[in-house]
Amino acid sequence: LLQLDGVSVRFGGRAVVDRVDLAVAAHETVCVLGPSGSGKSTLLRVVAGLQPVSAGRVLLDGADQAAVPVHRRGVGLMFQDHQLFPHRDVGGNVAFGLRMRGSARTAYRPRVAELLDLVGLPGAQGRAVASLSGGEQQRVALARALAPSPRLLMLDEPLGQLDRGLRERLVVELRELFSRLGTTVLAVTHDQGEAFALADRVIVMRDGRIAQAGTPLEVWQRPADRFVARFLGFEN
Ligand code: ATP
Ligand code: MG
Repeated sequence: LLQLDGVSVRFGGRAVVDRVDLAVAAHETVCVLGPSGSGKSTLLRVVAGLQPVSAGRVLLDGADQAAVPVHRRGVGLMFQDHQLFPHRDVGGNVAFGLRMRGSARTAYRPRVAELLDLVGLPGAQGRAVASLSGGEQQRVALARALAPSPRLLMLDEPLGQLDRGLRERLVVELRELFSRLGTTVLAVTHDQGEAFALADRVIVMRDGRIAQAGTPLEVWQRPADRFVARFLGFEN
């Protein structure tokens, strides 16, 4: 479904993403792991069309995306700081994801209700964003990203600001949700536990390059090098 061929992004001579090759199959969940500054968010922005590449190609369903603008790529992106619109209620936030696809005003009401059920917030349409807990806000942001039924859902630290207990519960729920919907997911996290629980495959990034790619078990059992081993918390 998604293919990156030798994608590089340079800022002032420095390669923040450096010749990355990556393929994501339909219905697969791939988690990108790596330390702060390793290029994870930049990689997602490239796929979304928010960040031009310095070299390489991005293909979705085999089609080169070089000339395809953000809103025509059919990808959903949930940002690191999920950024709900504070002046809109929950329903208005979720509907925003639909309106980008030009749905008629009355047609999206049932869909908003369905999406809120999906993320475990049934009937929350009229609530003010400010009255929601952090975890509830993340769920609304997820519903908004899922609203247009993107062929590829990208999540940047989807559970970033939550406490451990809530993260662990939500990870299980997300995994179940994605497998039920058949969603293809590319998610960024720097929490290996989260990545291992969510992913069919993990990618470990270091300085813009892929240090290792494999199933969670492969990466855990056979880290490719000392960097990956250290990152996973092994001494050597
Ligand atoms: P984190 O885990 O902290 O979110 P990350 O892996 O997502 O980190 P990126 O946001 O992709 O990292 O940034 C990678 C590097 O690129 C960083 O050093 C960052 O400062 C740099 N960078 C990102 N965007 C720009 C930009 N527009 N101009 C210059 N440098 C940038
Ligand atoms: Mg980031």
